[in-house]
Amino acid sequence: MQPLPTIEPVRAAIRGVAERFSVHRIYCVGRNYADHAKEMGASGREPPFFFLKPADAIFNVAEDQTADWPYPSLTQDLHHELELVVAIGQRGRDIAVNDARRFIWGYAMGLDMTRRDLQSVMKKESKPWCIGKGFDFSAPMGPITPIESVGELSSGSIQLDINGVARQRGDLSQMIWNVAEVIAHLSRAWELHPGDLIFTGTPAGVGPVVRGDVIRVTAAQLAGFSLRVV
Ligand code: MN
Repeated sequence: MQPLPTIEPVRAAIRGVAERFSVHRIYCVGRNYADHAKEMGASGREPPFFFLKPADAIFNVAEDQTADWPYPSLTQDLHHELELVVAIGQRGRDIAVNDARRFIWGYAMGLDMTRRDLQSVMKKESKPWCIGKGFDFSAPMGPITPIESVGELSSGSIQLDINGVARQRGDLSQMIWNVAEVIAHLSRAWELHPGDLIFTGTPAGVGPVVRGDVIRVTAAQLAGFSLRVV
């Protein structure tokens, strides 16, 4: 028998401790802030929709550090999407909105990096988005803050700057579907597992980044981080 492949487990950093959070799946919510839905050409409160990234798309960045992040292949129009990430700690399906809190292990800030040009072509042709959304290192994130130290988050400012200029400013209270509602919807379609991460959608102001840009992510209650696009 040939040697069996050895695979590194995917883990996400936790704020302030050396232990790491084992990652199972990455779910993402589309168009979950009204002003972003509008800039993408949608309107109204349509039911939340979901897509996935591979777990190993996670790119950990330590709190308040700047990491070199590689510009991906194939794209001429790479976009940033600033998002709250929810880390799931319990298994469950058909979760009720008022029961959702106990499934939340913690929160982090993350980026749903998007090859917008490829996504747009696939959308136009009614083909899957994977190539636009699920590429290598497409999910940079800061360390996770456990819910017991920050409480349940329903509001709080989040911001993304590029080269010192504010590009995305939002508040968690502006989500069309709040975290509990997202968990309820998602758990009807898939059984949630410990280690699942949910990228909960982005406020308005998405736009391109190029090599040399420094993307800075900050949030009122969560760990911030920066990327230098190389
Ligand atoms: Mn997104």
